[in-house]
Amino acid sequence: MVAPAKSGVSAAPLLDILRRRIAAEGPITVAAYMADCLLHPEHGYYRSQEAIGLHGDFITAPEISQMFGELLGLWAADYWQSLGCPDRCYLVELGPGRGTLMRDALRAARALPQFRAALTPVMIEASTRLRGLQEAALAHEGAIWCEQIAAIPKDAPLLLLANEFLDALPVRQFQRGDDGAWHERCVGLDEATNDLCFLLDPRALPFDDLLPQILRDSPPGSIVESSPPVRAVAVEIAARLKQQGGAALFIDYGYASAGAGETLQAVWRHTYADPLQNPGLADLTAHVDFGSFALAAKRAGAAVHGPVGQGVFLERLGIAARAAKLKQSNTTQAGDLDQALRRLTAPEAMGTLFKALALTPPESPKPAGFA
Ligand code: SAH
Repeated sequence: MVAPAKSGVSAAPLLDILRRRIAAEGPITVAAYMADCLLHPEHGYYRSQEAIGLHGDFITAPEISQMFGELLGLWAADYWQSLGCPDRCYLVELGPGRGTLMRDALRAARALPQFRAALTPVMIEASTRLRGLQEAALAHEGAIWCEQIAAIPKDAPLLLLANEFLDALPVRQFQRGDDGAWHERCVGLDEATNDLCFLLDPRALPFDDLLPQILRDSPPGSIVESSPPVRAVAVEIAARLKQQGGAALFIDYGYASAGAGETLQAVWRHTYADPLQNPGLADLTAHVDFGSFALAAKRAGAAVHGPVGQGVFLERLGIAARAAKLKQSNTTQAGDLDQALRRLTAPEAMGTLFKALALTPPESPKPAGFA
């Protein structure tokens, strides 16, 4: 699938860097491997590759249809009204990719001029390359960019959107050994071939807060994933919502409650690839454990709404009516619109595996779509 390396010289510059690092320092955790693959300053996937869209490696909901971003913009407008139409608020997006979702959300927001006038778009993006695409998509929209959630301004309510952001955050993996103990799964070097390979840290790990309790007795050989950065996002956003007010919407593919199993996956040019092949050239993601995310947010004082399947969520926001309206004005594109609607909502497409979950401060109105 992936172009083979030529005579000892890897096609992936990051591979040689990782080989040297592992040779010098020993195996690295799966989370450290994932972090380098995605965000290495020079060779990280999001920093160097054309990732998203028809010509990239994968396509996301906002790239499938304008309806997705528009409906999320209206979701934010609805919550702004339930906050009493504040004069100022921030429409924040985490991991905005090509900027398509925000562009479509702002177009929909213009239907309520008072809402559009109140909001400042805030883009949280770690990749300068993607930031460049976002700036082009949002020229004259008055947006500001930050690299980290901590830099989001604190002086007005937040309406926050995050589509396929959590799945890009690193996961640690743990495996139960034949000795009955849990060990961290790492990436090391195969002694014979010098290729990257998975191996287990020989040290037994205490089965602590990192792993869901219900998985303690999984049979030997089981792999369990845990993402401290995903939980940190839940805690940080919960704290901000308590301070500033507002609501946050996370949409991603994942599972509603924890289970054993490995979900780390690589995608290269719309095809699954080996996660250890060509680091930095393929996208690496893991399914989101919405159960752990929700628990972390609740412990940090937020109210959790959902998760509900993306299909049900978009239907509740009125995607069928929006598609019908667009078909009336674009009769030649009726077939494309039907296909986009199906991809976004059908259970066998993105409708069930993708889920929507919202956070608000406690005792706040329920956001649209979670009734
Ligand atoms: N939301 C977009 C793109 C999803 S890809 C869409 O739906 O099309 C993941 C996005 O998150 C990219 O923009 C990537 O650069 C960004 N990202 C990944 N890790 C990040 C981090 N730690 N901090 C900020 N942005 C990050």
